[in-house]
Amino acid sequence: MTDAAIATETRDLFSKFDPLINEREALLATGVRDPYAIVMDQVLSPTRAIIKGKETILLGTYNYMGMTFDPDVVEAGKKALDEFGAGTTGSRVLNGTYQGHKEVEDALKEFYGTSGAMVFSTGYQANLGIISTLAGKGDYVVLDADSHASIYDGCAMGNAEIVRFRHNSVEDLDKRLGRLPADALKLVVLEGVYSMLGDVAPLPEMVAAIRKHPNCMILCDEAHGMGFFGPNGRGAYEEQGVEGEIDFVVGTFSKSVGTVGGFCVSNHPKFEILRLVCRPYVFTASLPPSVVATAATSIRKLMHAGEKRAHLWKNSQRLHQGLTDLGFKLGSATPQSAIIAVILTDQMQAVAMWQTLLELGLYVNMARPPATPAGTFLLRCSLCAEHSDEQVEQIIAMFETAGKATGAIN
Ligand code: PMP
Repeated sequence: MTDAAIATETRDLFSKFDPLINEREALLATGVRDPYAIVMDQVLSPTRAIIKGKETILLGTYNYMGMTFDPDVVEAGKKALDEFGAGTTGSRVLNGTYQGHKEVEDALKEFYGTSGAMVFSTGYQANLGIISTLAGKGDYVVLDADSHASIYDGCAMGNAEIVRFRHNSVEDLDKRLGRLPADALKLVVLEGVYSMLGDVAPLPEMVAAIRKHPNCMILCDEAHGMGFFGPNGRGAYEEQGVEGEIDFVVGTFSKSVGTVGGFCVSNHPKFEILRLVCRPYVFTASLPPSVVATAATSIRKLMHAGEKRAHLWKNSQRLHQGLTDLGFKLGSATPQSAIIAVILTDQMQAVAMWQTLLELGLYVNMARPPATPAGTFLLRCSLCAEHSDEQVEQIIAMFETAGKATGAIN
């Protein structure tokens, strides 16, 4: 009897996971590798790693600007590790604020041109903390139906009323705001770039719709926009010219910045009070000194990364065109960001494509519901500014081979 079969015989708190356990067992029994159990044995650069002894091109990381191996960034981390030790062992509001935490917040204020910046231990915690602390019982959070899990979890934690609008629909956003009591306080949460399909929000139209309604503040998650969009790399909201209209920008150090951590920046005059009332900021240990030092160095370098941004954009356009020409169905009709989603018909086809690509020497993300919208199975490709032109051509050739071998294209 399989472990899963044994598990289904006794009912306990794990029983609700039985359908997922059985689905995974059936899939793995077909001989495919587990897409969620990949180990990077060695990482050679932002775009290359050794996986199971094979040199593999990485096309499924959030390392958009390739900062993980930047010599200045690595050096700053080593120096902080030597000078300040491995960790802070404490909360930001007690013993866990070092000079480096102040420096990374100063770097963020400069990068974003804001008066306030607050650093969290992850981007997930930044959304959890900011949304749950701002919008409580009796308030409303109005959010895009395809919002990231951290946004939904922030809403649940704060106990505000949740109102969803159709993905990227200005009309639906306007309609739903119009149904809310005028005197209620509302937080509208948008994302600059949506991480599954790689599409960008129509922010000016959304802001105009929101401003028709009273008592709304706007938060924009720029996790996937930071570094790449806008003249200063602030995000899609900068590129689309609505900087003055966004009350809070949330972001992460785990993508373009190339390390780990999260943040919120704002010009609100009372912003600092959040440090005392935001539970995911107060009740957890602060980031290690080496991490904040790498983040500060990386953020300052991203202010002058115009050439990298241009190359990343070129890579994204080339890959989108190459995959379109091969006949793949993509998440957006035009290239909108560094994320290119290849939509497949079902789980079997997605896993077969994923595995064939891996055997050819290409790693992409396999994404499935509930992370993806509308029950889709997709391969998420995310480009890096450090991918060379030759690597992009190699990637397109590998997609052609895998697509033909699995029947995903003719
Ligand atoms: N927001 C969005 C839109 C994200 O995609 C992610 C991570 N994938 C996060 C927030 C959380 O970031 P972190 O990895 O720093 O927790």
